[in-house]
Amino acid sequence: MEELRIFAPATVANLSCGFDVLGCCLENVGDEMLIRKNDLREIRITKITGQELPLESDRNVAGVAVQALLKEARSTQGFDIEIDKKIKAGSGIGSSAASSAGAVYAVNKLLGEPFSKNELIKFAMEGERLASGNAHADNVAPALLGGFSLVKSYEPLEVLKLPSPPELRMVILHPLIEIKTRDSRAVIRQNVSLQKAIFQWGNLAALVSSLYTEDYALLGRSLKDEIIEPFRSILIPHFDKLKAIALENGALGFGISGSGPSVFAMCKGEENAENVRGKLEGFYADKNIAFELHLSKINTQGIKELS
Ligand code: ADP
Repeated sequence: MEELRIFAPATVANLSCGFDVLGCCLENVGDEMLIRKNDLREIRITKITGQELPLESDRNVAGVAVQALLKEARSTQGFDIEIDKKIKAGSGIGSSAASSAGAVYAVNKLLGEPFSKNELIKFAMEGERLASGNAHADNVAPALLGGFSLVKSYEPLEVLKLPSPPELRMVILHPLIEIKTRDSRAVIRQNVSLQKAIFQWGNLAALVSSLYTEDYALLGRSLKDEIIEPFRSILIPHFDKLKAIALENGALGFGISGSGPSVFAMCKGEENAENVRGKLEGFYADKNIAFELHLSKINTQGIKELS
């Protein structure tokens, strides 16, 4: 095999109670990438469409992630990478993670799969380190594994794939404003009270249980965050009102996607999700705020090979 075309999905990290440890993969939001072997023994980003992003391979997350993989594989094989960006960088739905995860998935395949999908996570995390200064796994893991991922620990890295209840739908609202990852990290408090920690780990454990038992109501009651959301939500226009609208209209839960500005409403069933989508859309349109909206199933496969 000389080349591979793939769909590299968007992902929603944190999911309220799972800051830096939980994420899920979206079905119909994502980039396309074409990765081809070259004889030059170098990694080249040969084309990027849809966004202005660095073409230098050491400044593009895809190049950095592939370098990390090739180093461990002790391979000098060169690759050309084309990226058709459909996920906006800085949107909070794993734009950088899609490129890092997509690139290492395809290169691994073209090298004859020396690594398992789980082993690819650490290479893709090097792309995240470049994008945000923090090698977090809660976007790249669900992009690679599909479904819901739980980062059990970072050192040593241990990531678990969790089940995806089939009727879950995600409504993603992306206000077209820029929030710098640096700013959204800066507003977070570094210390947590025991009371808040108990609340958070109770909810996280219940959320994991709800995924196994397909208990949608429990899932909704668990999508709570008293540690990060109260501070980060200040950066998102009308966050409290959006949340109230989503919950009043039957969403299971509502929160910030990654470091924002995107927000998500998790819903049970297509009809409910369509209704929530319409209400959120109407509210933001009235406020004259530019936005994008997505409605997606949970993608249980992760990166997909395209013919
Ligand atoms: P998101 O949460 O949407 O992924 P990030 O802030 O994590 O956004 O990542 C975006 C940053 O990564 C931007 O500074 C962007 O220039 C940089 N970057 C480098 N290469 C890529 C790439 N291939 N795709 C997306 N972002 C990239």
